[in-house]
Amino acid sequence: MPDTFDLTPEFARQADQQDPLQHFKQAFHFPRHQDRDVIYFCGNSLGLQPKNVAAAMQTELDTWRKMAVGGYFSGPNPWLYYQHYVQSSLVRLMGCHENEVTVMNTLTVNLHLLMLSFYRPTARRYKIIMEAGAFPSDQYAIETLVRHFNLDPTDAIIEINPREGEKTLRTDDIVQTIHNTGAELAMVLFGGIHYYTGQLLDLPAITAAAHAAGAVAGFDLAHVAGNVPMQLHTWGVDFAAWCSYKYLNAGPGAVGGAYIHEKHAQNIHTPRLGGWWGNDEKTRFKMEKGFIPKQDAGGWNISTAQVFNTVALKASLELFDEAGMDRLRTKSIRLTAYLEYLLHQLPQLNFEILTPADVNSRGAQLSLFFREKGKEIHQRMIDNGITVDYREPGVIRVAPAPLYCSFEDVYRFYTILRDHFN
Ligand SMILES: *Cc1c(COP(=O)(O)O)cnc(C)c1O
Repeated sequence: MPDTFDLTPEFARQADQQDPLQHFKQAFHFPRHQDRDVIYFCGNSLGLQPKNVAAAMQTELDTWRKMAVGGYFSGPNPWLYYQHYVQSSLVRLMGCHENEVTVMNTLTVNLHLLMLSFYRPTARRYKIIMEAGAFPSDQYAIETLVRHFNLDPTDAIIEINPREGEKTLRTDDIVQTIHNTGAELAMVLFGGIHYYTGQLLDLPAITAAAHAAGAVAGFDLAHVAGNVPMQLHTWGVDFAAWCSYKYLNAGPGAVGGAYIHEKHAQNIHTPRLGGWWGNDEKTRFKMEKGFIPKQDAGGWNISTAQVFNTVALKASLELFDEAGMDRLRTKSIRLTAYLEYLLHQLPQLNFEILTPADVNSRGAQLSLFFREKGKEIHQRMIDNGITVDYREPGVIRVAPAPLYCSFEDVYRFYTILRDHFN
């Protein structure tokens, strides 16, 4: 059933009153602008700080201060197992088994490590399919991966573009390209949600097509994690990586997440670059020759658990567990649809929404392309205490994250546009 909205401020107020997740706003610190909290629509870039982070950080500082090396084995959260503390929450967000998920390093590093495991080019099968205009770090990672194998990126990498006059990709075009590449295709690697357009791809369809062609399917879920619930295991996705500082609110430099399907994770012969932390825990401290990987995603860990980069993630995931990803998604769909509805009431502004109108093809973000005045509109937002992100040429990305954004926030965004630019 389509939502019905109206243009009154009462509507926004009422929608917030009826929102079962409304109180989570109080669980976050907001930057201030002229004595009030900013309206923060930039959680797709860096999420806000949850208020429970400071105490969690202090707990580990205390353990370090009082126990030093003893903190690995005792204290409230023995550091030796720190990666395990976030596993069950990530399982709920990603729709996978506990043995399929781990945290380590950061996103682009993890993409490299996983691609080195799963991209096994041969003379015949060596091509990679990805979206055109991918996030630069992903482009660089894939380009350098291909060069690492002495292959030519212009030959090995196939980029899929939107059709002439269209803004986003069609699943049919992706599936057809995969099919056409067939036995030459080694791997597909797509951003699950495109950072610029906000398009959510059909991961199950892409995965199935890749497998039918005999290739592996990997995804960068930077803009998906904590935004849209996944079913990675059921869909048979081979591997995925994401960062924790966007919708997951774990702060700058937070530890990244990785998923590896158990059919690969349990297999100690799946190729990888190893380190002692990925070694079987029974023999890890024997310091013997011969790497024996753990038979789960942790078998890709290389270095000691990065405790301080994981503290905020652990604290933040407690909020996700409390809210529940399904309830968050339900609110998010409605909140973003409300934003879209209000924007449609502003035909005097010369802009178009790049993000698909279909709620199943997007997360929280709408990308607005202003043919004129984009920069000015962005500045007006900042001057009025609304944090949104601007990308040349004239794209404002607006991401009302459902954990800490309200219907009234969206309404205020609308009134500023309405009152300043008519
Ligand atoms: C945010 C983002 C990154 C950033 O990667 P880091 O290694 O964390 O700096 C990479 N890829 C995509 C698609 C992103 O959205």
